[in-house]
Amino acid sequence: MVVDMKTKIAFFDAKEYDIASFEKANSNGEYDIKFYETKLSEDTADLAKGYDVVCVFVNDTVNAAVIDKLANYNVKLVALRCAGYNNVDIEHAFGKIHVVRVPAYSPYAVAEHAMALLLTSIRRIHKAYIRTRDHNFSLNGLTGFDLHGKTVGVVGTGKIGRIFTDICKGFRMNVLAYDKFPAKDSGLNYVNLDEIWERSDIISFHCPLTEETKHMVNPDTIAKMKKGVVLINTSRGALIDSEALLEGIKDRQVGAACLDVYEEESDVFFHDYSGHIIADDTLARLISMPNVIVTSHQAFLTQEALTNIADTTLSNIRQYFADGRCDNELCYKCEKVGKCPQEHKKLCF
Ligand code: NAD
Repeated sequence: MVVDMKTKIAFFDAKEYDIASFEKANSNGEYDIKFYETKLSEDTADLAKGYDVVCVFVNDTVNAAVIDKLANYNVKLVALRCAGYNNVDIEHAFGKIHVVRVPAYSPYAVAEHAMALLLTSIRRIHKAYIRTRDHNFSLNGLTGFDLHGKTVGVVGTGKIGRIFTDICKGFRMNVLAYDKFPAKDSGLNYVNLDEIWERSDIISFHCPLTEETKHMVNPDTIAKMKKGVVLINTSRGALIDSEALLEGIKDRQVGAACLDVYEEESDVFFHDYSGHIIADDTLARLISMPNVIVTSHQAFLTQEALTNIADTTLSNIRQYFADGRCDNELCYKCEKVGKCPQEHKKLCF
């Protein structure tokens, strides 16, 4: 009798481009991967029964109830194929199921998308594209402004934020930075958050979503900003209180918003709802604004990033099962308590 010893992976929220990149990375047939279109949630966790690993993305739900179900089915590993992990209850997972992630796959992809959104917005490229396709060559209403000499506030100066600041410096912009943990010797001009709000013509968000950063853009902080400020969010939707943003746009306090993420994105983004009625009034109203550009969590989507995501995810799984450790393990003691004794020389529990 031949016993199939391949590690079995239940892959949730699988899109065409995921399947293509993971099939390529797994072309030697090392893993047995089942691709599910559905997202992981309490309702779908049963699909993971009999699998060793669940592979999930940003809008899958890995809360306490899902973790308990997975642990009960003897799933050993949650392999995130993304960097952010605000959708995983890592504290509840500790001692029950290991969690690994892809900490970086192409920070360039996200930083370049942030600049692409900014340029599109302030030079009205999205409007011009539609006009000229209709043979409308009028320039009325397309007046933009120079980036040169403008002040950009960068919130979060990790991998993506640092690359974004470099891009902005290339445009000869003045860069102000804020980070809870400023990078020493970065040469960045760190200021406090109030100064970011008060002095920036443009603010770009590159920090993680945490209890502390949730709704950091709210009625109070919007009121402190320069009139006409341009906001760019390629990080996580809930950094911005969407209702407050909408009011800020209606009041002309916010000049433009470039959103690759949205706080209620999980039911909408990544799906084709053309021809459907969108139930989310706030999103529909934001999209209807001439000075709001929404892309649907697309910033990561480059060939380079997809290849790196697939390769790192499979290598995380390989390392976990072969070596009993993983450099990219997530552990709340490492993250929150800051003193996990394992220091990633072996697994955290
Ligand atoms: P990173 O960990 O390298 O950098 C995050 C930075 O935020 C760090 O410097 C950290 O000190 C800082 N930070 C932590 N708490 C903070 C706080 N309360 N206030 C201000 N700064 C704080 O992460 P990264 O790779 O640069 O990614 C940044 C974010 O981008 C991720 O958290 C993720 O949510 C998002 N992201 C989005 C996409 C996309 O496709 N739109 C893709 C990848 C990552």
